[in-house]
Amino acid sequence: MSNEELMAKIGQSTEDTEFYTPMPPGYRKGRHKFVVVVGTVMSGLGKGIFSSSLAKLLQDKGLKVAPIKMEGYLNIDSGTLNPYRHGEVFVLDDGMETDMDLGTYERLLDQDLSAANFTTNGQILSGVLKKEREGGYLGRDVQVIPHVTGEVKLKLRELAVKTQADVVFVEVGGTVGDYENSFYLEACRQLAYEEGEDAVCFVALTYVLEPGTLGEQKSKAAQLGMKRLMEMGIMPDIIACRASNPVNDTVRQKISMYTNVPMKRVFSMHDVESIYLIPESLRSAGMDREVLTMLQLHDHVDQRAEDQARLKWRWFVDRIGKARREITIGVTGKYTSLRDAYASIIKAVEHSGVHHGVEVKLKWLDTTNVDASSVARRLEGCHGIIVPGGFGVRGAEGKIECIRYARENRLPYLGLCLGFQMAVIEYARNVCGLNGANSTEFDPRCAHPVIDILPEQKKIEGLGGNMRLGGKDVILKPNTVAWRLFDESESIRLRFRHRYEVDPKYIQTLEEHGLIFSGRAPNHPIMQILELPAEAHPFFMGTQAHPELTSRPLRPQPMFMGLVKAAMEYAEHGRTVAVAGR
Ligand code: GLN
Repeated sequence: MSNEELMAKIGQSTEDTEFYTPMPPGYRKGRHKFVVVVGTVMSGLGKGIFSSSLAKLLQDKGLKVAPIKMEGYLNIDSGTLNPYRHGEVFVLDDGMETDMDLGTYERLLDQDLSAANFTTNGQILSGVLKKEREGGYLGRDVQVIPHVTGEVKLKLRELAVKTQADVVFVEVGGTVGDYENSFYLEACRQLAYEEGEDAVCFVALTYVLEPGTLGEQKSKAAQLGMKRLMEMGIMPDIIACRASNPVNDTVRQKISMYTNVPMKRVFSMHDVESIYLIPESLRSAGMDREVLTMLQLHDHVDQRAEDQARLKWRWFVDRIGKARREITIGVTGKYTSLRDAYASIIKAVEHSGVHHGVEVKLKWLDTTNVDASSVARRLEGCHGIIVPGGFGVRGAEGKIECIRYARENRLPYLGLCLGFQMAVIEYARNVCGLNGANSTEFDPRCAHPVIDILPEQKKIEGLGGNMRLGGKDVILKPNTVAWRLFDESESIRLRFRHRYEVDPKYIQTLEEHGLIFSGRAPNHPIMQILELPAEAHPFFMGTQAHPELTSRPLRPQPMFMGLVKAAMEYAEHGRTVAVAGR
């Protein structure tokens, strides 16, 4: 039987074989390699940052990498998860709503990802159940092994074929020993067996405790975590020890001895000042070389590409923390203490700050108790404001007050999604005189529903009436601030996640009163960017999109660049007299 015939046979679930290994069309064994990253001891060790940094190092060498995050929960995607519990919902260009780690991968790899780069237990299991109903496993009792694990392996190989990746980075969510991740690990174990030698490299991230009362590093928890992994039939190839301080040799030796992983592959991964330093610190420790050795990829390295990539990255990293100027930007947020909910905004501001050579401090503003009498005091010290995306009425009036203040006092403003809608409401009420203007999200019976759900428009776009999600083209109006920010491009692409939008029947009134819609959808009257003319305000912009999702360290997002620049000027020249407004 030829290899292909055998593969075809084990890809079918029949009664005369215990194998179930469906292969995607075009899959060539040996063409793609896999790095599987697992965590032990505890979650929250920065597995995503670690994994994306390692992937970046291989990408820098000219290898094509494709990451995938495998989540243990039963939700089909992250769209229904509460950001204050799980961090922000990240939206990919194809509209997939994912865990915030996908943002880390996109930013570090400067690569757009798709639904193929993300999976959950819910997706895998519902796929298996659907296949069962369609008769896909006819005659067989459907089992976690081999059927569920077979679908997981299929997903990994499909990603390899789709992206033509040299190396697929598999990040298994949670920690080894969690029930919900156990079949992912089992699938990876099988994958390593099927792919053969030099094809799959297991990297275990663990944690070395250093209890304050003892004042020394203890390896036991790490050892137990590794033991757990080995009980599942997985021998780690590389161990990365997270710790606050450099992990000492005694601890590394113990871990090495208990796992059969040679000392040269037990790495200390202690805290560094900035996540952007992690790729270089992994590199100087030699982890990338060890991965290349394990996967027999040394011949594929493009030295020139690596030198250039490192040079560019160095430029960025060298500027971090070196700024001599400092500005403060106020961010209105609901549960403002939970920063993960605003991870991409924090990153986008940071990218722009580095490029402008300024340290940007964020001041979190709970707007539930902001009103006309307190707004000036609450915004004191801010050189710009961001009203980010959100759902629900809580703090809405306070946000509108902040926007009014920003508009009237020439304080730089950037509104993101909900912040765009709020700016429209504020303008309608306070400049156009439309008393009672609001969004039907907050007040379904308001006098002027300037922001509303428009099912007809959704239908035109074939989106089935729920959220408008993912990357969309935005046509820019020439000679506007937005047009200049985007290098005079005719059309740009931004990512969206919203249900409500500007009701087109109010567009004329808003424009007649001076508001400029500088970005629109190509075929429908969906307003996507607004601004005030440069004479009226130094920087007042809102977008129905989430531009923070597409900011990258080496390609900062232009709207954030514009805001930070304007805030620097505001900080330098102080408050100027209000031009527009009441
Ligand atoms: N709640 C608003 C809407 O659904 C804004 C959404 C958002 O900010 N992501 O349109």
